[in-house]
Amino acid sequence: MPATDFAGFRLDEQVAAVTGGASGIGRSAARLLAASGAKVVVLDIDCESAAESANQIREEGGQAKAMAMDVTVESEIERAMDATVAEFGRLDVLVSCAGIAIREPALDHSLKHWNQVLQVNQTGVFLCARHAARHMRKSGYGRIVNVASIMGLSGGGIYPNISYQTTKGAIVNMTRALAIEWASDGILVNAVAPTYVRTPFIEELLEQPGIEEEIRRLTPLGRLAEPEEVAPAILFLASPAASMVTGHILAVDGGFLAQ
Ligand code: NAD
Repeated sequence: MPATDFAGFRLDEQVAAVTGGASGIGRSAARLLAASGAKVVVLDIDCESAAESANQIREEGGQAKAMAMDVTVESEIERAMDATVAEFGRLDVLVSCAGIAIREPALDHSLKHWNQVLQVNQTGVFLCARHAARHMRKSGYGRIVNVASIMGLSGGGIYPNISYQTTKGAIVNMTRALAIEWASDGILVNAVAPTYVRTPFIEELLEQPGIEEEIRRLTPLGRLAEPEEVAPAILFLASPAASMVTGHILAVDGGFLAQ
């Protein structure tokens, strides 16, 4: 079979939910999943931007719907996953992109800030996975792709960001543990670990003198990633092509972790 006939990356007839789909990596992933045939539900706390993502997908010929959802509120997560299945009949793919950072030195990081970051990046990812898996289990098929970070596989070092580092490390091991627990249900759980990606998430950081140069210096490919360079890795893990891949953390890092 010619390689061009390979259909493993197609998501026709599938339904995908993308948290954090209103911006950055999540929006890019939502667009690519839709372009690959999936009906996409864009879930985000920022309703207006989520609606923009869904509109953009529809303009590009895809099918999408935006729903407001805060990943720190379990009832909202449950409602959004149920509404997705009620409207589209199934849920095949969950991409967990919603995330925040409060970059402060550990000694000054208030418990309030620590808890805020853990609630979104760690507990939120777990609750979304659990509520999605309840539906996926019924059909015996599911793909969960969590968005970790190179900061989940290294201690960082350019600037202090303790709660973020902690949560991304937690996502790495949560991904492995859920992959094992849900393997027999046909639910594959993987994560991507991107390097610095040019999105609103790091805009303020890049304004600080010397930071971008330091990132470039520490990256063998010598640059930051674009969201469109992370989305294909997410598509692979979300697709039938990854049928023998679970519990894997796919670095999309320009060689950052190779050193
Ligand atoms: P972004 O700020 O562009 O997008 C994050 C999205 O998450 C936003 O739309 C925001 O509204 C949403 N969100 C935040 N809190 C939420 C909540 N409580 N409930 C629902 N949605 C919420 O950021 P991005 O760069 O696209 O980041 C996406 C993911 O990628 C994050 O998990 C981030 O940690 C991770 N990541 C980013 C980078 C980077 O350099 N940009 C690098 C590695 C990993």
